[in-house]
Amino acid sequence: MTENENHRDIIIIGGGPAGLTAGIYSARGGAKTTIFSGILPGGQLIQTMEVENFPGFFESTPGADIMQKMIQQAKRLGCEISNNEITEVDFNVKPFKITVSSKKIFTTDSVIISTGAKAKWMGIPSETKFRNKGVSSCATCDGFFHRNKDVCVIGGGDTAAEDALFLTKFSNKVYLVHRRDKLRTNRRSEERLKANPKIEILYDSVLDEVLGEEKVSGIKIKNVKTNDIREINLSGVFIAIGHHPETSLFKDKIEIDEQGYIKTDGHTKTSVEGVFAAGDVMDPNYKQAIIAAGTGAIAGMQALKYIEDLECDEFIKQKSCKTEN
Ligand code: NDP
Repeated sequence: MTENENHRDIIIIGGGPAGLTAGIYSARGGAKTTIFSGILPGGQLIQTMEVENFPGFFESTPGADIMQKMIQQAKRLGCEISNNEITEVDFNVKPFKITVSSKKIFTTDSVIISTGAKAKWMGIPSETKFRNKGVSSCATCDGFFHRNKDVCVIGGGDTAAEDALFLTKFSNKVYLVHRRDKLRTNRRSEERLKANPKIEILYDSVLDEVLGEEKVSGIKIKNVKTNDIREINLSGVFIAIGHHPETSLFKDKIEIDEQGYIKTDGHTKTSVEGVFAAGDVMDPNYKQAIIAAGTGAIAGMQALKYIEDLECDEFIKQKSCKTEN
């Protein structure tokens, strides 16, 4: 709408599957679109070595390859991708004001927030050392690689319960390591965990160390009541202690729920008209790339509709159509 080199019809914050899909839809719909992806576009999926459940990629494919294709597709359709990070947003003015790390200020008619969520990690050095070498935060992505082996899941919430149950499809044995004497997960999941002969729940236990040379070969866990250390041989460690949605930039600027996720209307509209949210930043439940891409498509379409309505309003104002009506 505004003829200015620093103006965009739609600015997308975050370059994972949600942001890139939103960019594909909005650029293809004719909107001048920039995705600010930060230094490394691709989101959480680029950390996944092999993806087997993204439709269209029938062979096991590195997450980075899928994201590379999405980036190429978005660019081919005319979407600009910038490695700058956004440092500040102002949703109190129209057009919105977006400040990037280079200190340049952009204006935009619509914003799509797709900053994602990051898995929480325990923060112990051996966990970091073996990340993607047996330590994972995504059972759906990496469970398959532990077929007929033993694994553990750290955590006691719904994610940990679902991961443990899911992993029994592949693994011989799944240890669920929980720091308290009572699980946080819902009762039905707890019953299913207890009824599954492949699952052993280790209460009052914390991960002390991940063991191995090149890849994970075991763990040391500590009983927090007795301080006893137990060593278990296994090939996979799944960390399921929760996620942090990446919403710090939007604190006090948009409605965010108690868990830190951006509140939406059931689709992707947020509490600020013209600002949409897609992917893990607004989805506490599924945390799957395909779901993020799906909500990204919705956000792209809703943002396009929003700017079309804005253009129409402006046209009516300029031509005084309102008085004719
Ligand atoms: P939660 O925050 O619910 O659970 C995290 C678990 O990890 C808790 O058991 C917690 O222990 C444990 N934990 C946290 N930090 C540490 C740590 N540093 N060391 C060891 N253990 C730790 O996260 P979830 O990802 O499980 O769930 C997030 C939300 O998503 C919840 O609202 C959940 O209900 C929802 N969800 C729903 C699903 C469904 O309905 N199908 C599936 C998955 C998630 P403690 O209990 O002691 O605090």
